[in-house]
Amino acid sequence: MSAPSITVRKTVHRRDLERCVSCATGEGLTFQHRAAVGWGASRIKPPPPAGIALCLVCNQACEASMQTRALTYGWKIRRHMDPTRVPVYYPHEFGWFLLTGETRRAISSEVAVELMCAAHGNAWVRWWEEVIYG
Ligand SMILES: [Zn+2]
Repeated sequence: MSAPSITVRKTVHRRDLERCVSCATGEGLTFQHRAAVGWGASRIKPPPPAGIALCLVCNQACEASMQTRALTYGWKIRRHMDPTRVPVYYPHEFGWFLLTGETRRAISSEVAVELMCAAHGNAWVRWWEEVIYG
């Protein structure tokens, strides 16, 4: 997937309250592609639900040490997944949201678990336990 338009980047940062979804800093915000970049070398510009606001440090960590957490929280999704159907966890709000259009909609953790298991199967429960209990 190619780089987001400036409008989409601004929309995503505003939607995510101008702070990193992971560490809450307002510095050095980037557009985190939730699906793996290079998606068939697509020229399609990503829509807002395809990205979240992450600082550069957390964005890079999602590809390395934070990979499991990123999948568990919906910050990363598999290439074939619909970003509007995989919820995102915002740890600083202790809440799950579905990203739709230019906004986000709070959902219960019960619904989030259902959607995550629908997307990832039982693997998601293992990741969740790993992220929560270490
Ligand atoms: Zn961060």
